[in-house]
Amino acid sequence: MALDSKIPQGPLADKWTKHKNDINLVNPANKRLIDIIVVGTGLAGGSAAATLAELGYNVKAFCFQDSPRRAHSIAAQGGINAAKNYQGDGDSTYRLFYDTVKGGDYRSRESNVYRLAEVSANIIDQCVAQGVPFARDYGGLLDNRSFGGVLVSRTFYAKGQTGQQLLLGAYSAMNRQIGRGKIKMHTRHEMLDVVIVDGKARGIIARNLVTGEIERHSAHAVVLGTGGYGNAFYLSTYAMGSNVTAAWKAHKRGAYFANPCYTQIHPTCIPVSGDHQSKLTLMSESLRNDGRIWVPKHLKDVEAIRNGSLKPTELAEEDRDYYLERRYPAFGNLVPRDVASRAAKERCDAGYGVNKTGEAVYLDFASAFMRYGKEQAHVKGLDENDDTLVRKLGQEIVKNKYGNLFQMYEKIVDQNPYETPMMIYPAVHYTMGGIWVDYNLMTTVPGLYAIGEANFSDHGANRLGASALMQGLADGYFVLPYTIGDYLADDIRTGPISTDLKEFDEAEKNVNETIDKLVNNNGSKSVDHFHKRLGKIMWNKCGMARNEKDLKEAITEIAELREEFWKEVKIPGNADEYNEELAKAGRVADFLELGELFAKDALVREESAGGHFRDEYQTPEGEAMRRKEFQFVSAWEFKGEPKDAVLHKEELEYENIKVKERSYK
Ligand SMILES: Cc1cc2nc3c(=O)[nH]c(=O)nc-3n(C[C@H](O)[C@H](O)[C@H](O)COP(=O)(O)OP(=O)(O)OC[C@H]3O[C@@H](n4cnc5c(N)ncnc54)[C@H](O)[C@@H]3O)c2cc1C
Repeated sequence: MALDSKIPQGPLADKWTKHKNDINLVNPANKRLIDIIVVGTGLAGGSAAATLAELGYNVKAFCFQDSPRRAHSIAAQGGINAAKNYQGDGDSTYRLFYDTVKGGDYRSRESNVYRLAEVSANIIDQCVAQGVPFARDYGGLLDNRSFGGVLVSRTFYAKGQTGQQLLLGAYSAMNRQIGRGKIKMHTRHEMLDVVIVDGKARGIIARNLVTGEIERHSAHAVVLGTGGYGNAFYLSTYAMGSNVTAAWKAHKRGAYFANPCYTQIHPTCIPVSGDHQSKLTLMSESLRNDGRIWVPKHLKDVEAIRNGSLKPTELAEEDRDYYLERRYPAFGNLVPRDVASRAAKERCDAGYGVNKTGEAVYLDFASAFMRYGKEQAHVKGLDENDDTLVRKLGQEIVKNKYGNLFQMYEKIVDQNPYETPMMIYPAVHYTMGGIWVDYNLMTTVPGLYAIGEANFSDHGANRLGASALMQGLADGYFVLPYTIGDYLADDIRTGPISTDLKEFDEAEKNVNETIDKLVNNNGSKSVDHFHKRLGKIMWNKCGMARNEKDLKEAITEIAELREEFWKEVKIPGNADEYNEELAKAGRVADFLELGELFAKDALVREESAGGHFRDEYQTPEGEAMRRKEFQFVSAWEFKGEPKDAVLHKEELEYENIKVKERSYK
């Protein structure tokens, strides 16, 4: 099938307005005749479900947690971008568009990114109206901070809990509709297949995770807001339950999977501490506003720090290498994530890592304490030369900005980051890849939509910090509610979709067979055993840097591991009960298929761009080397096995932005 991205004609800045004027509408009375399934109630799915129900559609919403409030979105810390230009520092829709396309290494679709920048300002107004307590400055106006890859302050935040506050907003909007009966909420339900009738998505098969019952649900359209798949790496900053199952099942039913190899590895996470670990913790990028990243300049000092004979605070300024400030003076510590992650890896690979495993760099707030403290002392008329007082005053300011993050660090690492620099190392954090969608957010299956992190997104090869929340909420509050009407306008006389159709029989049989196979397998190894091994292959061979040899090995090893999984996995308990291990097994089975496609995609992409770095394609300074021949979105069609997937290319055109070398110097 040829890819049609359905980008509207006309000037970039007019496309979205014109499109909204041109597309079909469903009148309010007819909306009552239409059912929509929304799978996922994180920020993307939650905002979509609330808005669609508010518009009058009948919404059936699903999540696997016990409440929409527990979606992975709640973990988001640092903030959400919007081109409001409240700081008067030169921001604009165009600048946000430009930064996003450049940040993504010129691998995203211009029209979508421009629309995203355009609606970003509405999101803030919407959320403020819901009561989201964004941080405010002294005068009571909304405050902003900076995130990587940009030269303005456009990030709105609520301490280090922005995702939580935004999710409470979306959740309360949903609850209003649940109360009205317009949303039927199915918590603790896991979607295990999409049902396609006459070529259109008409329902899902879900498992009630509490009783084990397999259920059929029908609708006129199905929306997936099911999040990202970074947990394929086993260790990541994702919530433990995040998975690829919904997206992967959709892929197997005809939805093309785009850019699977584009993963974001976030530079500021708490380093891995050992083999027993199942989760990594993010230290928000917002900390790079005030924290300075460094390693010792000399290997002898590295050794002394590692063996405990030297404290980092004792090392003189001239013996420290603030390598981001040295290499990228214009952006300094606020270079984009891919650049910062690779720079940390480069220093650690060269032997400068500061912890026992050699995989950690410092994130140091000492300068910020003094800078803020001096200002406070000045404001309060206190002694600006009293270092102890100044440091204390500065620490208070930093505490107000990032207190919960500092507390989290201390609890996990058992070191006080007010007294000693934090240690950080890159970790898997976000997936730019996902289900391919057109301008209307529809997948290659008619009536099947994907929003938020689940789609292949507007972020190209690298997402800028604070832009995931922006995209998820743009999709859910402001884009999908318009575009889905265009499709559903043809369904106003269709009537309810029966779940007795043979397509539902077939999909349910499919699901039951997989579950039976898993519970009756009687192997000898746990699900985690396989997940950990997959994670190791992914991290070592498809991680921060990739090369042809490793990727070829990864493809073979993942296929072998998958075979072993189906022979050897053991699932205790039964299918007709609450069985966490069974749910996990299904998810890992899908990761084992996705992993192979991931490596295949990375192998085909013979260039370096954003989160995809191929050793063979780098400049003499070690920077990513893009290649014009790869200026496309890869969209994979499922053909029975991951190895047989067929590549389709969406060529990317840049008419409104000049493709240049991506420099942050
Ligand atoms: C620690 C951390 C901090 C972050 N901080 C920021 C930040 O400051 N700013 C920013 O912009 N981004 C941030 N991000 C990224 C951002 O949080 C996510 O990209 C975003 O929240 C994803 O939202 P979503 O709605 O697409 O998916 P999710 O929030 O992951 O929601 C997925 C939903 O789908 C449901 N689901 C999944 N599969 C199924 C299934 N098979 N059946 C039924 N339901 C299913 C889940 O139950 C859940 O409701 C952060 C990420 C992490 C990990």
